[in-house]
Amino acid sequence: MEISVLTIFPEAFQIITQIGVIKKAIQKQIVNFEVLNLRDYTTDKHKVTDRPGYGGKNGMVMLAEPFYRFYDEYLLKKGSKPYIVMPSPQGETLNNQIALELAKKEELIFFCGRYEGIDERVSRLVDKKISIGDYVLTGGELPAMVIIETLLRFVPGVVGSQESVENDSFYNGLLDYSHYTKPAEFRGMKVPEVLLSGDHKKIELFRKKESLLKTILKRPDLFRKKDLNEEEKDLLIEIIIELYDRSFGKNDKENFDD
Ligand code: SAM
Repeated sequence: MEISVLTIFPEAFQIITQIGVIKKAIQKQIVNFEVLNLRDYTTDKHKVTDRPGYGGKNGMVMLAEPFYRFYDEYLLKKGSKPYIVMPSPQGETLNNQIALELAKKEELIFFCGRYEGIDERVSRLVDKKISIGDYVLTGGELPAMVIIETLLRFVPGVVGSQESVENDSFYNGLLDYSHYTKPAEFRGMKVPEVLLSGDHKKIELFRKKESLLKTILKRPDLFRKKDLNEEEKDLLIEIIIELYDRSFGKNDKENFDD
């Protein structure tokens, strides 16, 4: 996979290229990551990339010309159109589904804006505008890094265990279960006993129940959208019975109709 980023702050991307799983993915050549300086695509000697916006009463706007020059050079060199992403607060909000789709692309380009944004005419080159949330940052670099990290987790080989990616929150429409490590008791707080039992089937069921319950309590919006399978329905019934027994006592159910 090839990812290129066009930015006036190439150094910002050291944060993701010099640490962690993305650094390893680059070393293992799973991803070819290129950070390009937008100023290299300017035509004037001062390498200007922005000008005051037309219409007044607003700030600087990034010029269309350097983005189009980059695009023309790219087409000449590679011969095929890349998939271009523009981080933008006006785009579709990033989620796992978008990241999974981006992870399938062979060549991805990110156009990073600054100031008031990029001249609207650059939108013609863009395949998808993506927002990382309903708030405004000063530049597209951090959003691009967030999108890149999210999508790369879905590229095989980038994260050591595919199973752990699939168990993470949102992948199957639920939140992840809780995680614990040594010691088994910390400042009076104990790890749930079942996790120390070595009974893998029981542990799996415990975790699935925790995932369901956490999602219901913390993200009912997510739970409403979840298409439950038969096992999940059974677990939900068990959860309700357990909670009922804890609140009213096991022997109380017979009296429920009275
Ligand atoms: N005037 C623009 C607006 O209100 O829609 C905001 C421009 S913002 C200050 C500058 C750049 O930061 C944008 O071009 C975009 O690249 C990036 N940006 C800011 N907030 C973002 C968000 N929530 N998601 C994705 N990109 C964002």
